[in-house]
Amino acid sequence: MTLTNARELSAFVSRNSNLSETVLGEIMDAVPVAIYMTDAHGRLTYFNPAAAKLSGRSPEIGTDQWCVTWKIFLSDGTPLRHDQCPMAVALTGGEAPAGMECMAERPDGTRFWFTPYPAVLRDAEGRVVGGINVLIDITERKNAHREVSEQFRAIVETTPQCVKVVAPDGTLLFMNPPGLEMLGASCPAAVIGQSVYNVIAPEDQERFRVFNQMICGGKRGSLQFEIVGLKGARRHMETHAAPLQHADGTTVHLAVAHDITERKRAEGSSFLLSAVVDSSDDAIISKDLDGVISSWNKSAERLFGYTSEEAIGQTVASLLIPEDRQEEEPDILARLRRGERVDHFETVRRRKNGSLIDISLTISPVKDLEGAIIGASKIARDITESKRVRAKLMESEARFRQLADSMPQMVWTARPDGSVDYFNERWYEFTGFGRETRGDTNWERILHPEDLQRTRDSWGAAVSSGQPYNVEYRFRDRRENRWRWFIGRALPVRDGTGKVVKWFGTSTDIDEQKRVEDQLRRANQDLEQFAFSASHDLQEPLRSIKIYSELLMKRHAHSLDGEALKFMSFLRNGATRMETLVRDLLTYTQATRFDEPPKVTDANEALKTALANLSGAIGESGAQVTTGPLPSLPVNGTHLQQLFQNLIGNALKYRSPKRPPAVHVEAERQNENWVFSVADNGIGIDPEYKENIFGLFKRLHTSGEYSGTGIGLAICRRIVDRYHGRIWVESEPGRGSIFRFTLPV
Ligand code: ADP
Repeated sequence: MTLTNARELSAFVSRNSNLSETVLGEIMDAVPVAIYMTDAHGRLTYFNPAAAKLSGRSPEIGTDQWCVTWKIFLSDGTPLRHDQCPMAVALTGGEAPAGMECMAERPDGTRFWFTPYPAVLRDAEGRVVGGINVLIDITERKNAHREVSEQFRAIVETTPQCVKVVAPDGTLLFMNPPGLEMLGASCPAAVIGQSVYNVIAPEDQERFRVFNQMICGGKRGSLQFEIVGLKGARRHMETHAAPLQHADGTTVHLAVAHDITERKRAEGSSFLLSAVVDSSDDAIISKDLDGVISSWNKSAERLFGYTSEEAIGQTVASLLIPEDRQEEEPDILARLRRGERVDHFETVRRRKNGSLIDISLTISPVKDLEGAIIGASKIARDITESKRVRAKLMESEARFRQLADSMPQMVWTARPDGSVDYFNERWYEFTGFGRETRGDTNWERILHPEDLQRTRDSWGAAVSSGQPYNVEYRFRDRRENRWRWFIGRALPVRDGTGKVVKWFGTSTDIDEQKRVEDQLRRANQDLEQFAFSASHDLQEPLRSIKIYSELLMKRHAHSLDGEALKFMSFLRNGATRMETLVRDLLTYTQATRFDEPPKVTDANEALKTALANLSGAIGESGAQVTTGPLPSLPVNGTHLQQLFQNLIGNALKYRSPKRPPAVHVEAERQNENWVFSVADNGIGIDPEYKENIFGLFKRLHTSGEYSGTGIGLAICRRIVDRYHGRIWVESEPGRGSIFRFTLPV
């Protein structure tokens, strides 16, 4: 009787209860399988030596109940009470599970595994009279199994690859820690028990489903697919899978997968590299250390005319190098053997059709995995065009320098960052600096200290804004040992995109001009001062002449004869005219004395005041003055009033004897100016004198015909000049004149 048919043994015993007890007892004592029997209440009635040996104790007949063992546990380690052991279950009418694996502990602490085969013994009437149990020791098998699974666990846990078990429906049943890490799962529960499709790239899910079915259907296979980890990272996996018989009888999918992302990337980049090489505009050629060509891209074909079939296997020297340059190749090969690079070596090569071509060569050594130099890769660029451009550039630069050197000004150029990179000859002559000083700020060394900051600021502002630079400063003139005024100007030169690529600047000597301007300004100031005090001082004696001539007339007219009276009236008229003259002159000198920035003036108000001052002349001449809409503008109110008063006054004065005067005043906006006009229907002005009349003391009539000093229009021009405006007249003699002047908006 073997261990495996123990079930049959208990059946045999229960079937052959009619066997003599002695025979049965002998058989049971002899078998090496633990057997014990109980009465209907489970109390021990018999046990064989094998049972005592297995349980590690001497069971007590009549006292021990249900089982001979000391302590029992279920296979998962939970303790099992004796009254719930399989024998107890069988005797109390339950169905004891077949083939159950239990563990028991001996009093000495050692443990063993067994499978119980309990059977109930009945009498002829079928009443339960007792039970018999056979315990099969499975410790050895269990240990062997545990060892295998321990080994399996150790392998699975130590392998750096992903080991997983997938159910036919896609549920992930198991995954080792490296696999969890690849998925970015922080704990097994994040993926185990979940659908494996949660982490498979959408485009690969269908393929994986088919594969999973195939494996679960009992076939082996491999698959490449992408996973999307829980944190979104994609990885390329290659899996090798086999079917695995699961404990519950189903076939599942056991797989070992490794991450081939890097390999894929490398494949991708070598693919990319060959695409780059093929699409490059430069000829890319590789050769071995004997100069034999081993690869030849499309541009090489284009540049030199040979196809790759024609070129590969030939030497560079025989195919491309012209006769007179043959010595270059040994030199290049020698340098490569030493591991040196050849950078931008400009030379000439020969095409298939025999024509020569200017190229720039960059050659780098190629090493094998051990670092030994095995050949070279060379990039050849056609520089025919860039050579031509360079030559042209040099030519135009030479022309520019020639031009710049012939200029009387100092000319310089600067880089976009403002550092000066060129000065013309004139600069070196003036400063005495050495030709090597350029591109720095040495111009500051000869700048007047008072102008330094201002000039630096202006240049800095121009460079950062890209706006033209315009500033006056003084340079030290070493020859004359004095400061000279210059005006510095620079304009940015921009490329097609509007980016500043260079600054072109000049420094022009304006010292003479400055001096003349200064002198002129001083002379003007002196003149004004003189005219001012002279007219002031003249008023006093004039008043005396007038007063005394009037007193003379009043008190002594009766004692004067006719001629004396005539002379007296000349005297008085002369004094009055002189008085007006002095007054007008004073007005002229003071016309532009308002230096503070003008406030906004309403031209209607200025006109109103002027008309009020002219009310006498208007009334007397019966004139009609009309106006169009007038603006407000940033001009001193008195200035505007003086303009109106002089022009309207003249319109009344130079009226036609044939008609009553009509004057019209209006203003019109033209770009950045207001153009005012004062039109009359008077005697008009001969075009010949159109310019003349605005000069000081310029008159077209004698004081006998029309009174006046010839200062009015000169005042008008002076005022308009001050605002950088213009004044002019349009006239038709005999019909009238239009005076126009511009003022800023
Ligand atoms: P004044 O009126 O004191 O002579 P102005 O400077 O005002 O001096 O004018 C200069 C000259 O221009 C006048 O003498 C006159 O001949 C001429 N003139 C000025 N305004 C008019 C006008 N509206 N019509 C005709 N002639 C004019």
